[in-house]
Amino acid sequence: MSLRTDAVNHVSHGNIISPDIKGAKITGVFGESVFTLKTAREYLSDEAYKSLLASVRGGKKIERAVASQIASGMRAWAEGKGVTHYTHWFQPLTGTTAEKHDSFFTLKGDGTAIEEFEGAALIQQEPDASSFPNGGLRATFEARGYSAWDPSSPPFIIEIGNGKTLCIPTIFIAYTGESLDYKAPLMKAVESLNKAAVTVCNYFDKNVAKVTPTLGWEQEYFVIDEALVNARPDLVQCGRTVFGFTPAKGQQLEDHYFGSIPERVYAFMRDFENESYKLGIPLRTRHNEVAPAQFECAPIFEEVNIAVDHNILLMDVMTRVAKRHRLVVLLHEKPFAGINGSGKHNNWSLATDTGVNLLAPGKTPKTNLMFLTFFVNTIKAVHDYADILRASIASASNDFRLGANEAPPAIISVFIGDYLTKVLGDVESRVNSKFDEQDEAILKIDLHRSIPELLIDNTDRNRTSPFAFTGNKFEFRAVGSTANCALPMTILNTIVADTLNKFASEVDALIEKGDKKEIAIMQVIQKYIVASKKILFEGDGYSEAWHKEAEKRGLPNLKTTPVALDAMVTDKAKQLFKDNGIYTHAELEARHEIELEKYIKKVQIEARVMGDLATNHIIPAAIKYQNELLKNVSLLREAALPEKLYKGQLTLLKDVSTHIQQVYENVHAMVEERKVANNISDTREKAIAYEAKVKAQYFDKIRYHVDKLEQLVDDELWTLPKYRELLFLR
Ligand code: ADP
Ligand code: MG
Repeated sequence: MSLRTDAVNHVSHGNIISPDIKGAKITGVFGESVFTLKTAREYLSDEAYKSLLASVRGGKKIERAVASQIASGMRAWAEGKGVTHYTHWFQPLTGTTAEKHDSFFTLKGDGTAIEEFEGAALIQQEPDASSFPNGGLRATFEARGYSAWDPSSPPFIIEIGNGKTLCIPTIFIAYTGESLDYKAPLMKAVESLNKAAVTVCNYFDKNVAKVTPTLGWEQEYFVIDEALVNARPDLVQCGRTVFGFTPAKGQQLEDHYFGSIPERVYAFMRDFENESYKLGIPLRTRHNEVAPAQFECAPIFEEVNIAVDHNILLMDVMTRVAKRHRLVVLLHEKPFAGINGSGKHNNWSLATDTGVNLLAPGKTPKTNLMFLTFFVNTIKAVHDYADILRASIASASNDFRLGANEAPPAIISVFIGDYLTKVLGDVESRVNSKFDEQDEAILKIDLHRSIPELLIDNTDRNRTSPFAFTGNKFEFRAVGSTANCALPMTILNTIVADTLNKFASEVDALIEKGDKKEIAIMQVIQKYIVASKKILFEGDGYSEAWHKEAEKRGLPNLKTTPVALDAMVTDKAKQLFKDNGIYTHAELEARHEIELEKYIKKVQIEARVMGDLATNHIIPAAIKYQNELLKNVSLLREAALPEKLYKGQLTLLKDVSTHIQQVYENVHAMVEERKVANNISDTREKAIAYEAKVKAQYFDKIRYHVDKLEQLVDDELWTLPKYRELLFLR
């Protein structure tokens, strides 16, 4: 029996595993595995608690001695829950998370065994980090990497089987200070945004002392039976199918969307949701997505730093819990051709410490003007730095989605809806007349009352926009489902911080010249609307017309990662990141190098897997069938039957032979191109060669012939589970 038939049989007998969930209420378990401030209050002395609180709320430094007290408190809490080990948990540039487990257990000088967790071990560690990408940074600076405690994200307990580990969220940096992870730059961007936004808020409200970016992500994913996945080496190694004919019942019927969730998947969802609740991840919605076997979950939004950690943690939890259910979660952006891909919409806004959402239209003229200020500054930021924002979501896997005819296009544009388009038009139309007291009437536009309308307006029509205003937040939709949100969030917060800083200088200059504050603000807003108009687009982002129009407007349309990444290292980018204290030039160059290398490796692996599958699965199955046809034809001939009675077999034989030959030739040609690419020493050139010469030239071509064979060859001989099995057997 082949792996395929075995897998298919297994699925049809697959049992539903009931999750082990105690009690019905989420509040009963929510955060039980997290060292929350409430827990800290219980386990720490007053002094230690206050110090921790000051660090979490105001970024105050924690003294070593106090850190030791906090560490003991954490250990006491964790041991009470059966934890034996701890680890610094960080997000290196590989895209996954890293841990190195250490035991609380240690020996004293006299050999007595004790359990301890010291402040020093909480604050800082030196993971053997040589295996993490550093883009040449550590070689250049001869520096080792270390992980440093980030008190703003609470420690949590991860359960794997019966083992429990206390995870301390950390940042990962070189001894010389260069950051080697996704979190350190994000924290810098958050701080930079805070400073800039507070300055601007204070034009309207002196009480605002802190502004925090908020993030609510929406995670899309596929769920496939484990046995079926194991019979597909491409899914195992690349997370996507490199071959596969799209079945007749694809998503044309759109009956999966908001349909009922299959029972086995439902049990899995409840299970991973329960694990997520314990970890304090506030998941709220779950539903079917457009494609068969595709689903989505989304939490209540949180401060961006926490939301990023929670998303990475969730991806990990989902993957682990799926195993219990003999399922595999596919987080890849495009696991199946011809069927919708997966994204991770990043809903983003700004919250003040006075409880105001800066992107929610206000009720009074003053709050309306504040809204308009942040709204227009965000648009201006996206306009000015569209190329960098595009680069922040570039990856080998997202390339299969962006620009294809379904996901947001690779062209960055902003959708704001009819009403706000009109509002901006009204402000803009006063270009030549200076604002006076009378014009303040414009500030009285009742944005608030029109919101319900705005939301309806938004939900349907703007699905094709990569960056859309959705009533009280912007939704960055081009982020890929495998991405660490930290990178796009670092970039978005940085460009908005930069724009707000420039905005404030312009407003101050006008005030100094004698303008009234509100008038000065309106002038600059108006200027920004005019300057960034070309980024606004309300139409169908997938249409050919938009691609032409965007080109006319001069908007970049970079469809592939190797060239999209150029935007990270332009003079403009270097200036931006230096001015805002996010990345040094060396860090930028290093990251650029790392992203290119990641791209090369991904395409390299896919090309290998393709060659491997073609040679070891496809061609052998096709040859078997070819032999059967040959035997059949020659027997028919022997029987002296007229040829017109087996013309069909002859055509089939010809077609099968043609496709076998095409697969064979193209796989060999692709291998040759890979060799050529491998000899290129410049990383960018190499990545471009892998994109243009290996991927673009051969992937689709090979797939075309393989998928043809899949349709021709006897089903019994085909060894790889087919789409109809992968997607519809649950
Ligand atoms: P939908 O996009 O499906 O219409 P919602 O508008 O309710 O649904 O929210 C989508 C996502 O946006 C949710 O994950 C939610 O947490 C997030 N969200 C809502 N408000 C904010 C905000 N102020 N900042 C960041 N994310 C938000
Ligand atoms: Mg949404």
